[in-house]
Amino acid sequence: MERYCANCNKKLPSNKWRYCSHECETAFKAKQYRKRNPFKGKSSGTTGAISELRVSVDLLRKGYDVYRALSPNAPGDLAILIDGNLLLVEVRTTYLYADNNRISKPKKEGENPDIYAYVASDKIVFEPISLRAKQLLDSEGNHQNFPLNHV
Ligand SMILES: [Zn+2]
Repeated sequence: MERYCANCNKKLPSNKWRYCSHECETAFKAKQYRKRNPFKGKSSGTTGAISELRVSVDLLRKGYDVYRALSPNAPGDLAILIDGNLLLVEVRTTYLYADNNRISKPKKEGENPDIYAYVASDKIVFEPISLRAKQLLDSEGNHQNFPLNHV
């Protein structure tokens, strides 16, 4: 079966390929990203700020005390108190895969948050990362009194 580049439709030399070039892969993924993120802010700074505020509101509604970093270079964007422990929350703006169920979970080298909060256009997913967070939350990222992820 012949395969064609997902971006430009050029015939591919191998049917293991999806794109004819790195440029096409980048362009295709950018298009997909924009399709699934219709509510993006004007700049990446604004998009990040919107995501942090959305996570803050979500956590406040779930009953957490929420703290916000004053410096954009601070480790962790937010912090929450769980059973008297202050846990760092790193907010990541991301997107949903094509099946609209799974969320992409980008991580950055050198980041060691207790919890990642992945924010897509209409979904927020929390993932406990540190040992401390995993001890305080169950495998679904939920606390007995304040569930982070609704089922
Ligand atoms: Zn191509």
